[in-house]
Amino acid sequence: MPEPSPPRLLAPWRRLFQWLCSLIILGLPFGAWQGRSLLRLDIDSLSLHLAGQVLRLEDLHLVLFASLLLVIVFLLVTMVFGRVWCGWACPQTTLTDLAEWWSRKLGLKIRDNRLQGAMWRKVLAHCGFALLALLVGANLVWYFVDPYRFLAELATGGLHPGAIGTWLVTAILVYADLGFVRRLVCRDFCPYGRFQTVLADRGTLVLHRPASEAPRCIECGACVRVCPMGIDIREGYQVECINCGRCLDACRQVMARLKQPGLMVYSFGTEGAGWRSLVNPRTLLLSLAVALLTTILALGVFNRKEASLKVAVSHTAASRLDTSGRTLTFFDAWISNQDDRSHSYHITAGTVEGMPLEIRGQTRNIQLQPGENQAVSFVLLTPAREKTTIVLYLADETGRELVSQEAIVLPAAGAGHQPE
Ligand code: SF4
Ligand code: SF4
Repeated sequence: MPEPSPPRLLAPWRRLFQWLCSLIILGLPFGAWQGRSLLRLDIDSLSLHLAGQVLRLEDLHLVLFASLLLVIVFLLVTMVFGRVWCGWACPQTTLTDLAEWWSRKLGLKIRDNRLQGAMWRKVLAHCGFALLALLVGANLVWYFVDPYRFLAELATGGLHPGAIGTWLVTAILVYADLGFVRRLVCRDFCPYGRFQTVLADRGTLVLHRPASEAPRCIECGACVRVCPMGIDIREGYQVECINCGRCLDACRQVMARLKQPGLMVYSFGTEGAGWRSLVNPRTLLLSLAVALLTTILALGVFNRKEASLKVAVSHTAASRLDTSGRTLTFFDAWISNQDDRSHSYHITAGTVEGMPLEIRGQTRNIQLQPGENQAVSFVLLTPAREKTTIVLYLADETGRELVSQEAIVLPAAGAGHQPE
């Protein structure tokens, strides 16, 4: 028999991945692109900041598309990789691992989900849980309130009571989780685990001990002792398994002493169905939905208008002729600043052929704050003797044309009798 190589363990990779995910979650609210948050549901402006883009209430359909995309990606990943998310990336697992690591560092033992050891050690452990819970609570609030503003206002005592309340309530819940519930969340409460039963496919990635390896098992029980979910994987794959790989590491270490390879394997399907069995109508349909929604979302986000202009001929002021025989048409307009910066807008008008038209009223230097709407009124002067289509343009302070809208101008009563 060839000399087996030293056991390759998954634990360092799992921890690295967990830390990477946690750091991303922690640091994302501080990240910015083009001066805008990478991800924040901004409470002040009621807008979603996403990768440098700002989606307002008017773009609610895009937010719904983004949410739907997220759900479908999650379903697809679960169907292919099982509960890998739970064991390798879920913040709940990472926090529980951290809480257990801290408890062990203090010399405490964890039996039946309870801390065992001297009281002062338990008090220290709970102090650590409380600090971690405060950090997690603040991190959640940072996805709704600018973290720099949060910290500045916290330092000066000016933090909004709503933000303080959300922070503390979240921190209390996280503390209860770290201090008392821990793995029970994954085992008994988390709805994702239940979904997984429905989503599992013949070829879903699972960790198991193949039946063909059972004769080599020395029944040491190491795989059972390390399982955070209390599973005996020797009895076969179970839905509570979070694919963390601890049993695989434990078995590899035990069998290495006997100069044999470990018995546990990750495979697509417990019966060796292989990854090819994942190429089925369910996964193909979900993949298609992901591609479609990603395209729609990208097109929707990058073709979004920074402002909107809605124009209507006034119902309260009838059009009439001026002394030079031109038709005066009264308009009401509504401008909305959909950007996250304030702007100064101008409205101009022209014929569809591009000839400029005179416009009078509130059409220049219309100052709007982010998300602000404003109604303005103005008069358009046309040499029209007949029904004419005109175009109204909205430009920002740099003269960049943002949107335009066509409108029909009818000749004023008596316009047809005016001298040429
Ligand atoms: S059975 Fe193995 S992979 Fe599954 S949860 Fe337990 S230790 Fe982790
Ligand atoms: S760790 Fe490996 S050898 Fe030991 S009981 Fe589990 S499967 Fe058997």
